[in-house]
Amino acid sequence: MIQFSGVSKWYGDFQVLTDIDFTVGRGERIVVCGPSGSGKSTMIRCINRLEEHQKGRIVVDGTELDHNARHVDVVRREVGMVFQQFNLFPHLTVLQNLMIAPVQIRGVPKREAEETARYFLDRVHIAHKADDYPANLSGGQQQRVAIARALCMKPKVMLFDEPTSALDPEMIKEVLDVMVKLAEEGMTMVCVTHEMGFARTVADRVVFMDAGRIVEEAAPEAFFSAPKSPRARAFLGQIM
Ligand code: ATP
Ligand code: MG
Repeated sequence: MIQFSGVSKWYGDFQVLTDIDFTVGRGERIVVCGPSGSGKSTMIRCINRLEEHQKGRIVVDGTELDHNARHVDVVRREVGMVFQQFNLFPHLTVLQNLMIAPVQIRGVPKREAEETARYFLDRVHIAHKADDYPANLSGGQQQRVAIARALCMKPKVMLFDEPTSALDPEMIKEVLDVMVKLAEEGMTMVCVTHEMGFARTVADRVVFMDAGRIVEEAAPEAFFSAPKSPRARAFLGQIM
């Protein structure tokens, strides 16, 4: 579903990603972790071209992300993304937040977009907030709206970049529960997160990054119980 081969990226002189080889199969759940500044966000943002790589190849569901703008559009249609800061439109209600992209970008008829929106709001247990504005929702509720909004585009892959790290502890679980449910339903997911309980429950593989490289890749049990690299050991020592 997602393939990185020899991907490198620079910000000016600074090499942020070095020779990334990374494959995600359909239905796989990958957790990406690593120290701050190691390139986790940059790597997953390359998957929907929020960042551009300069070397190597990235192929998503058979389409290569290259300089052909049409290829980028094709990939973006298939990839949903949820950020640490929920990025909801503050001037739109919850329902309108969910309908705007399907209606304006996909040309979905309004009635159908609303039906889909209500379905996904129900799925994230927030149907009763449909007519509220984001500012009147808790952080956990806003993040669940952000997840529902991404799902309304019917993505084949969901990317999560630290979706719970801006949340108060009591709201983390309600967001993780929604993500676990998605995983159980077979969604292909790449999640940057330090929620190790989540990683143990749903991840097929944990990818550990340091200084722009993938240093280690292993099944969660193996990674947590016996990380191979000293850097992964040091990292786990800090967060657990
Ligand atoms: P965190 O855990 O703090 O979110 P991260 O692993 O997601 O970190 P990135 O955000 O991918 O790390 O950043 C990797 C490196 O690239 C960092 O050193 C960062 O300062 C640098 N960087 C990120 N974005 C830019 C940019 N637009 N211009 C220049 N440098 C950048
Ligand atoms: Mg980041």
